[in-house]
Amino acid sequence: MSCIFCDIVAGSEKAEILVDDEKVLAFLDIRPFNYGHSLVIPKNHYENFSEVTEEDLFPMIKSVQEISKAIKSSLNADGFNVLSNNGAAAGQTIYHCHFHIIPRFTSDGFKFKMNLKEYSEDEMKEVAVKIKKYL
Ligand code: 5GP
Ligand code: ZN
Repeated sequence: MSCIFCDIVAGSEKAEILVDDEKVLAFLDIRPFNYGHSLVIPKNHYENFSEVTEEDLFPMIKSVQEISKAIKSSLNADGFNVLSNNGAAAGQTIYHCHFHIIPRFTSDGFKFKMNLKEYSEDEMKEVAVKIKKYL
């Protein structure tokens, strides 16, 4: 199956690369929310975050932190978002695990927090109990 991010890892597809480590590749997103919006991926192909092996997980997350700090400092950003879309319902369009790092500026006007729900006290407990059964 073809994967554009595997092609970038292989060098057969062009990208503006920031980090090329043994296990991790980071490059600029072709359609940025803000300039500097970057993607961090494990070089091995995993469809989503849940599938990444322990061996590849730490190098990826470590790289996310390093690159976030570099993006914030170099671009004088006021903050940054780190996010990973997993599954079509979450907006995933490329099925090779990746983290977005999006530099944010006080004046950029993006609103990620929309349609926030409210819990009753019981509902909050019920949801936590449900999740904890799987942990
Ligand atoms: P997703 O929607 O799966 O969370 O994120 C996929 C991201 O990959 C999108 O932000 C999209 O702009 C970016 N993208 C898609 N194709 C390419 C490509 O060929 N090169 C680069 N650099 N980014 C890409
Ligand atoms: Zn891939």
